[in-house]
Amino acid sequence: MVYFDYANGYPVDRRVIDSMIPYMEKEIGNPSSVHSMGLKARKAIDSVRDKIREFINGDGDIIFTSGATESNNLAIIGFGMRNKGKGKHIITSSIEHMSIINSCKVLQKNGFEVTYIPVDKNGVVKVDELERSIRDDTILISIQHANNEIGTIQEIEEIGRIASERGITFHVDATASAGKIEVDVEKMSADMLTISSNDLYGPRGVSALYVGKGVRVQPIIVGGGQEKGYRSGTENVAGIVGFGTAVDIIRDEYKEEAKREKKLRDKMIKRILSEIDESYLNGHPELRLPNNVNIRFSYIEGESLVLSLDMEGIYASTASACTSKTLQPSHVLMACGLKHEEAHGSLLFTLGKGNTEEDVERLMDVLPNVVERLRMMSPLYRKKKGG
Ligand code: PMP
Repeated sequence: MVYFDYANGYPVDRRVIDSMIPYMEKEIGNPSSVHSMGLKARKAIDSVRDKIREFINGDGDIIFTSGATESNNLAIIGFGMRNKGKGKHIITSSIEHMSIINSCKVLQKNGFEVTYIPVDKNGVVKVDELERSIRDDTILISIQHANNEIGTIQEIEEIGRIASERGITFHVDATASAGKIEVDVEKMSADMLTISSNDLYGPRGVSALYVGKGVRVQPIIVGGGQEKGYRSGTENVAGIVGFGTAVDIIRDEYKEEAKREKKLRDKMIKRILSEIDESYLNGHPELRLPNNVNIRFSYIEGESLVLSLDMEGIYASTASACTSKTLQPSHVLMACGLKHEEAHGSLLFTLGKGNTEEDVERLMDVLPNVVERLRMMSPLYRKKKGG
């Protein structure tokens, strides 16, 4: 099998699994319990907070959540509701993950105004438009560090500088970038940041929201007051411990691995574009995550291509799995100015630690033929071929 769908699901590193097992079998204390087993669990999760703080170079709070979706909801809805007395205008981009866009929509239903900044054809947020859209009542800017579908990396330090100069809280969704490129809240001037465990080869169902000093959010999950009241519910201790081990490993390994994946990425892009006519790269050619290859093929339905590759044991995706269920064209590709059929004809390959040169060879043995076969089903393509 050749797995090119890392962005939609990372395997959990064996060392991570090994570190989690004791916290499921023996060290089962509840961090809120006052006895020594509870204390041990509390210490274990607090040490992960320190690891994450160090990894992202921040000195604020780490709130553990159930996933990047929840962290993003808390950053947008929680921040908006807590600070609505200061203003009701929020700025974000048109290519954010749906967990940001739909959180903004919740606030819009609650009297907020949201400006969605457009992107250029490569998916780069138009920073000048962002700056111009700032108003006296703007309380929050939320921009992703890198896009999970097209891999485009934003000019995040510049945006952070603008936000901090204007005294506006800045949230960064670093779900897709952490563990691939440097994530440093200090350099980004970020006040809040979303980081997720699975994208670092840790377990699913655990993520964090970094909340800088002096930033206030209202909880969106209420109950027993865990996580300093920001997020109630018994902590997922084993998951959090696994998250911490994943951070330990990725911190030491990511730079080398990113170099290796970047080479594979560039080889893949070069070969696909040169060996398959009318194939085009989506996203930015250089400001791009090291593991992202997003290509559009004319005269093709991405879904059929995914299924045909599946039959050959090759796993890729159309858009992100989070939105591909809806059969709507990707909002990210549409925001980059693609037509419906171009967005539908796009394929996303995301690379990870398991991929090798042989995987690229295998893909290139199969892909040109599959594309040609599918294209022959298109009357438009046959007409073109016929004359
Ligand atoms: N933000 C970004 C940039 C993402 O790529 C994703 C999906 N991996 C999410 C948020 C949401 O993550 P999850 O589905 O794990 O909650």
